[in-house]
Amino acid sequence: MSSNPRVIEFHYVLHDMKGEMIDQSEAGEPLAFLEGSGQIIPGLESVLLTMSKGDKREVHVKAEDAYGDRDETLVANVPVDQLPTSEVKIGDMFRGGPDQDDPIMVVTSVTESHVTLDANHPLAGKDLVFKVEIAEMRPATKDELEHGHAHGAGGHHH
Ligand code: ZN
Repeated sequence: MSSNPRVIEFHYVLHDMKGEMIDQSEAGEPLAFLEGSGQIIPGLESVLLTMSKGDKREVHVKAEDAYGDRDETLVANVPVDQLPTSEVKIGDMFRGGPDQDDPIMVVTSVTESHVTLDANHPLAGKDLVFKVEIAEMRPATKDELEHGHAHGAGGHHH
């Protein structure tokens, strides 16, 4: 973290390498983050920090600087009768344990006896393309530094 962390608000549209849109900030509502807080992926933050208010850029981020490579040890083949429900279809999500921090597992295939669960981040292993525009850059307030996140529009409300 630099000695004078900033809060940066930016608009973005996220595509995969095939040009398919994955996500975008809501119209007129940029996403806000506190510099150095680890709120956004490192490969995007490092570029945003070099930009100025009003700048637009297309940023290519390799998987390793985004959500990391896929980890095949996070894929499990589980008997259907070990799941909390027998009504399972592709795309269903289960939490891997009782805690809020336990990973979310997505059903990626279903047979009569088994279900494949994948705990990788949905964007793991993907190179990403962000079209970004910096809406605002300002010094972080004392409260934001204490809390470790951005407040106000696009940030935390509390
Ligand atoms: Zn706060």
